[in-house]
Amino acid sequence: MDLYLTNTLTRAKERFVPANPKRVTMYVCGPTVYNYAHIGNARPPVVFDVLFRLLRATYGENAVIYARNFTDIDDRIISRAAELGESIDTLTARYTDIYRADMAALGNLKPTLEPTATGHIGPMCEIIGSLLEKGAAYKGSSGVWFCVAEDADYGKLSRRTQDEMLSGTRVEAEDDKKHPSDFALWKAAKPGEPAWDAPFGRGRPGWHIECSAMIRANLGETIDIHGGGIDLIFPHHENEIAQSETANGKPLARYWMHNGFLDMDGEKMSKSIGNVVLINDLAKEWPGEVLRWALLSAHYRAPLNFSRELLEQSKASLDRLYTALRRLKDVEVDPDVGPPEAFLAALGDDLNTPEAMASLFGLATEANKSDKPNEQELLKSKLLAAGALMGVLQGDPDAWFRSGDNVDEIDRLVAERVAARQAKNWAEADRLRQVLAGMGVEVMDNPGGSTWKRVN
Ligand code: AMP
Ligand code: ZN
Repeated sequence: MDLYLTNTLTRAKERFVPANPKRVTMYVCGPTVYNYAHIGNARPPVVFDVLFRLLRATYGENAVIYARNFTDIDDRIISRAAELGESIDTLTARYTDIYRADMAALGNLKPTLEPTATGHIGPMCEIIGSLLEKGAAYKGSSGVWFCVAEDADYGKLSRRTQDEMLSGTRVEAEDDKKHPSDFALWKAAKPGEPAWDAPFGRGRPGWHIECSAMIRANLGETIDIHGGGIDLIFPHHENEIAQSETANGKPLARYWMHNGFLDMDGEKMSKSIGNVVLINDLAKEWPGEVLRWALLSAHYRAPLNFSRELLEQSKASLDRLYTALRRLKDVEVDPDVGPPEAFLAALGDDLNTPEAMASLFGLATEANKSDKPNEQELLKSKLLAAGALMGVLQGDPDAWFRSGDNVDEIDRLVAERVAARQAKNWAEADRLRQVLAGMGVEVMDNPGGSTWKRVN
């Protein structure tokens, strides 16, 4: 099938042709693990999961390498660990686990690789070393800086003017950079902060160099697709390009893709505004598939407003599709039947998920009317194959209609179980785990208490 993607670099919809169809590479900037992720943060991983599925279906499951990183060292992590009085490792391990559980609840496949920033200090030092050698970076007392004036291409992704770029930069009092647009590659060690030895002085990495290093070490100097939210175009991706392309002398990514924001009451959902709803909380009240459907219900580049009605509509849409599948419960599936042309054409057109959904409804309508076994088999097979590409409709239809909203009761049982564990009453804790399992609920115990999720 033909796949067209909007490339932020050229601002045009282009036909996607991988550099090597036997090794298609995609990198998506992942979370900073110091807190729960909100449903806005889920938009990039869900959108790029659909692209991952599409690429796997086109080039073969083993031909696509998708890396999504964990940023496990940064200012926010350091201050949150201090606030909670725990080690950085404990903090980041906990939120890494929670993030993985959230991603699974949303029906995302595991990326091929999940590199961590702290696991790539060596590759970061190599890039910084070569930038210093080339005169593209300089050392100050507060760290190592990338010298933007030395990079004639700087600004090519965001297409910003010098003034606009300046408005997006922060200058801290202790910074000793030569130009306000210069950005930190390496931050000199400060007392009480984690630090690593490096040829240019002990310290820790800047955010942008982490991705440049994880990409080069895991995927190569030039990758096919680089993705993330629209807010990452500047400065993060502009700076990744500046570092990587200056060091490697090659383009960093052939296609740059950016998703629009998930909004709440007309504003970007974000921790700093405070209008966030956590994935973890939503997943207790709603099947993950409803959240996924909601996130895919607008084109990925368009803004999407998050509301309770959006979730209710998404639930109703899935009810409609599962109703059709339930009616065909005893009909065989032909594994050789693929998704219908119209569905593939919609996804191939820059991942037009709303149009792909419309094609699913069309199939369901036909299926509801059909009473010929051959036709039913074909329609059910098409529905399931198309659903698999979007990561939906793979559950048992009967179980779908059983999934309820008994959140209060589940919370009560989990709390009883925590109390039983605190009283070292292991038999009672086990019994309650069984009761919850019978309700389709899995309990996860952490040092700070227990969380739970629905499992299918
Ligand atoms: P952050 O935690 O802000 O670093 O964001 C992590 C990822 O989520 C980045 O790829 C952001 O672009 C993306 N993101 C954050 N907020 C939103 C939002 N409201 N809508 C869509 N994507 C978002
Ligand atoms: Zn990045």
